[in-house]
Amino acid sequence: MDAPSILQDVESLERVRTDRSGYVPATLPDGVVIAQTIDDVVATLQYATEHSIPVVTRGAGSGLAGGSSASRGEIVLDVGGMNQILELDPLEQLAVVQPGVLNSAVSEAAAPHGLFYAPDPASMTYCSIGGNIATNAGGMRCAKYGVTRESVLALTVVLADGSILRTGGNTIKRVSGYDLTALMIGSEGTLGVVVEATLRLRPIPHHVSTLSAYFSDVVDAAQCASAIVASGVQPMILELMDGKTLDALDDHNATDHGTRGRAMLIVQTDGYGAREEMDVIEGVVSKATSSFTATSDAAQSETLVEARRGAIPAIGRRGTAFVGDVGVPRKHLGEMAREIVRIGDETGVDIYTIAHAGDGNLHPIVALGPGEAIHTGGPKEAMDQMFWAAHRLGGTLTGEHGVGALKTDWLVPELGDHALGLLSAIKNAFDPRGILNPGKAIYPSIPA
Ligand SMILES: Cc1cc2nc3c(=O)[nH]c(=O)nc-3n(C[C@H](O)[C@H](O)[C@H](O)COP(=O)(O)OP(=O)(O)OC[C@H]3O[C@@H](n4cnc5c(N)ncnc54)[C@H](O)[C@@H]3O)c2cc1C
Repeated sequence: MDAPSILQDVESLERVRTDRSGYVPATLPDGVVIAQTIDDVVATLQYATEHSIPVVTRGAGSGLAGGSSASRGEIVLDVGGMNQILELDPLEQLAVVQPGVLNSAVSEAAAPHGLFYAPDPASMTYCSIGGNIATNAGGMRCAKYGVTRESVLALTVVLADGSILRTGGNTIKRVSGYDLTALMIGSEGTLGVVVEATLRLRPIPHHVSTLSAYFSDVVDAAQCASAIVASGVQPMILELMDGKTLDALDDHNATDHGTRGRAMLIVQTDGYGAREEMDVIEGVVSKATSSFTATSDAAQSETLVEARRGAIPAIGRRGTAFVGDVGVPRKHLGEMAREIVRIGDETGVDIYTIAHAGDGNLHPIVALGPGEAIHTGGPKEAMDQMFWAAHRLGGTLTGEHGVGALKTDWLVPELGDHALGLLSAIKNAFDPRGILNPGKAIYPSIPA
């Protein structure tokens, strides 16, 4: 196979230097390959293996953990241009797509068949399915439909040596052998390059009901979210935003959420029982606040959900947004929200909180001022304290964004040496020369 064509002009290298995490590596990568076909990916990995060159796979570069950031000595393999929907089977309710297809494009293609692709990161219009798979991305609807892992049936992956691995198949159930599809999902470009994916589609819900509720503080809102979870109904969406986030949204959208309360929940139920489930939720919410409204109007619902999708960009207008991603058991949402407030007060760091509360996944967002960086000083101290607070509550350092380059410090306390040793052995089996996205995801366990 011919050697890949590697671009080395500064403009091309600047474009692929980092993602949306706010982290900028000190140096530029050595080159970038723009892959259009599986053969391009194979050729790149064969070349990289032969010359022992580290490869950073890149989808759409919307990641929030520095996972697709690249520096001197590395080449970037950009698969964003492999963006065709290859097949859509309405009867089997599945789609076969290339990795660069944007998340929202799958639902757009499925809609005429009455189907949609459930995982919906807030970045859905500009993140790729390959990146979603590599980070096991979540989103608002994941409270009911599960994260990316629950919507991927099969993968085609190019391994470090250029060989092609096919995992899974078109069946919903399959337990022959270890689950290599699940192993690839969330592996952050360290085990192989996803070049094709078979996705599970779902019927578009017949009906949705949406509730917005305002609270006097974020802890009350978080505790109410726990109560909704405990009530036994299954909302499709259960999202939380604190008062500072509401202020940031109001600045941009000319809305008045921040004056109506200092925290907000958005809850959506769907399907034939949507209204009945919402009745139960209204009963729970009414015990915590009198300020709530429910609607079945599609346009009003979409405005609320769209506001939540705009939260990170709105905070980003106030400083460089570094988005934390801790997860806790859902009964501890209130305690974690209280810890985040305390950490902000004690470190003096400007923290905003949004959460996929239905999944116990909180995003404490540090708005970095000029000259501040997430990996030093107060912001780093705040991140450290947030990890330990989540850890004490039985939680995790990352719910959906991945470890990337920025969170490796906390891997050992969360996973332990034994598990990390096994992860290293797996990495070694897939990528014996360690060329795939080194320094990311499971880094501390990889021997130098
Ligand atoms: C405003 C905003 C809101 C967001 N909201 C959410 C949210 O609600 N939920 C959520 O989960 N995330 C969210 N994200 C984060 C981000 O969009 C997701 O992590 C997304 O999955 C990244 O996809 P990408 O194509 O941009 O990947 P990239 O940033 O290009 O890469 C991410 C990781 O995947 C690897 N990778 C990419 N493509 C492949 C491939 N084909 N094969 C193997 N490895 C690959 C990269 O090496 C890297 O480690 C948000 C981001 C922004 C900016």
